[in-house]
Amino acid sequence: MLIRRKETPRYQWLAVLGVALFFFALVWEGLRDITKIVWLVIGALSGILIMLSVVKSLSFRLGEWSRELRATRSELRRTKEEKEAIQRQFEDVIEGLETPLFICDSHGTILNANRAAKEAFAFKEPKGHTLLDVTLSHDILHATTNAGTREKPYKIEINIPAPSDHVYHVLSWVSESEPKRIFIAMTDLTPMRRLEKIRSDFVANASHELRTPMASIRSMAETILDNPDLPQETKERYLQNIISEVDRLTNLADDLLVLSYAESRPIKKSEVNFSELVREVVSKTERQIQEKGLKLFFEAPESLMVEGEAEQLVQVVSNLLSNAVRYTLEGSITVRVYPSDNEVVLEVKDTGIGISSEHLPRIFERFYRVDRARSRETGGTGLGLSIVRHIVESHGGKVEVESELNVGSTFRVRLPMKKPVGAA
Ligand code: ADP
Repeated sequence: MLIRRKETPRYQWLAVLGVALFFFALVWEGLRDITKIVWLVIGALSGILIMLSVVKSLSFRLGEWSRELRATRSELRRTKEEKEAIQRQFEDVIEGLETPLFICDSHGTILNANRAAKEAFAFKEPKGHTLLDVTLSHDILHATTNAGTREKPYKIEINIPAPSDHVYHVLSWVSESEPKRIFIAMTDLTPMRRLEKIRSDFVANASHELRTPMASIRSMAETILDNPDLPQETKERYLQNIISEVDRLTNLADDLLVLSYAESRPIKKSEVNFSELVREVVSKTERQIQEKGLKLFFEAPESLMVEGEAEQLVQVVSNLLSNAVRYTLEGSITVRVYPSDNEVVLEVKDTGIGISSEHLPRIFERFYRVDRARSRETGGTGLGLSIVRHIVESHGGKVEVESELNVGSTFRVRLPMKKPVGAA
């Protein structure tokens, strides 16, 4: 803030009086020479004083103006810096957003696009292009022509075919200030839609899986009820079938529970000796393997540690092992646990029926079965491998499969190794 100093003009009046005396002495004939000279000197000195005072006042004014000028200049610089900082912050915000955002002029030509927009449409520099050029969607033109206000933006859901099929919820609105700008913000609904589809497919598949055994239980029970003269042998066969259908339903309910339990909460981590855990599961399955006339080979070091939930890891091992038993008619099953780099690997290898290459990419999907009848016959639910994959991935690991038809399959689970504290 500038403070104006007030000048004290007292001596200026004395100077004016002196100059008046100078002129008085100059024109007054009656004055004696000496008096005249004194008045003239006083007058001249007063004149000089007046000049000095004018110069001083001028330089004071000049100083004041230059101070004002400097203050205005620094005020302007500060305002410019503040404006630039706000602009940078604004750019940081829009660049950091995961939502694609476009700023267009009133004709729909892109003036600015954030990082998410460039990435979503794999377009290096959208500036200067139209939204149609960048998004290849005619639907998005509605968003520019019908753009609403900031309080009431125009909303539309559109499909973008390229670079990959996506569904977006688009908001568009026109700026309140001039020059008018159209803002277009897009929220990617694809992952949500995919999840909804997986859910609805799952519900449809699960109800189908439930209905099939229920229908067959009902028809067998009705046959027994409607035919009291049915031979005892047939009746017993029907009742046996009812019991196996009920067992199948129980297996399905168990697997559905395991899957929903594994999906609905985070894993409770603790240190697990994976070698030991696999050894226990193998020893519980040993009798079943021998009964089927298969050989069993097991190889594991004393201790290999992983971090995870023991109960879920047991589920992984027993699902892989029971599949190996189920789909192997003769030969052997080999179970190995070994370290590899920073991982602990579980390998379950069988000499079973194998899986042809066209089915391999799909066997981890829920309810996917290569041979539905064989899976049903052996009590399979079609959920075992999807449970394995879910648990392994939630433990930070991955599961792989190699298989050859009529030769056998090898399933490999890789889990991050838990090193002892202090180890490099
Ligand atoms: P299921 O309960 O039917 O065994 P899974 O999810 O465990 O369901 O496996 C999916 C499908 O993968 C099985 O139906 C079967 O066709 C195939 N499969 C799984 N493990 C093996 C294996 N060890 N050998 C041959 N086929 C297998």
